[in-house]
Amino acid sequence: MLGLILGSFINVVVARLPGMLMMQWRAEARSALALPEETDSDLPRVTLTKPRSQCPHCATPIAWHDNVPLLGYLKRRGRCAHCGESISIQYPLVELASGALVLAVVVLNGFNGAGVLISIACLILLTLALIDLRTQLLPDILTLPLLWLGLLYQLMFQPWLLESAVLGAIAGYLVLWSFYWLFKLVTGKEGMGYGDFKLLAALGAWTGWEMLPLLLILSAGVGAVIGIIVQVAIPRLRGQALPFGPFLAMAGWITLL
Ligand SMILES: [Zn+2]
Repeated sequence: MLGLILGSFINVVVARLPGMLMMQWRAEARSALALPEETDSDLPRVTLTKPRSQCPHCATPIAWHDNVPLLGYLKRRGRCAHCGESISIQYPLVELASGALVLAVVVLNGFNGAGVLISIACLILLTLALIDLRTQLLPDILTLPLLWLGLLYQLMFQPWLLESAVLGAIAGYLVLWSFYWLFKLVTGKEGMGYGDFKLLAALGAWTGWEMLPLLLILSAGVGAVIGIIVQVAIPRLRGQALPFGPFLAMAGWITLL
């Protein structure tokens, strides 16, 4: 149940955080250029708590009893109670994924302090994967806490692995950083972004350096298979770059669990 509710919150973060960061970057850029503050921006001003959840079509606020994770969607059969337009299946699917991840952690690890931290890591990975799919961004505000949390986890629950975790964070960053520059020197293109290095560094902190080869094989392997399927099956996406973050997150879940 808690996993489902957190999944509902993840939907909000995925929908709003990129826009909030964009507003912040614009404000910082204007401040650096000594321009006056923006007053007539066409970007909507949102925070994680305001405005309340609303229908993406008619902007009618969603009643709390229609906003209950999973059940609200089933009750309204995926349609807005006010205008009847269909609501994306992404919302209940994310809630379901979040619930399944927390359930898997509790079943495999037990309901304890370590399980709570691993659950949080799995849910941050879910949030990052979705934001990367939508915007090709892996915000520092999520990747860096994931790294610190991994080191804290080792310190609290398996301090004998702390050394391996620190090396995992460093090597995780360096391995993709080196790959990025090698690829850029050879092809002149950017194969991935700095967010990917930070995400693998965070996963290295959670799993220790010994797991980095497995993480890379899993993420690159699954990424290559899905990439080929997408190129063949969806002509519209042919030749377009796929974000790497979702595959790193997938490898992270498998390795963490
Ligand atoms: Zn509506």
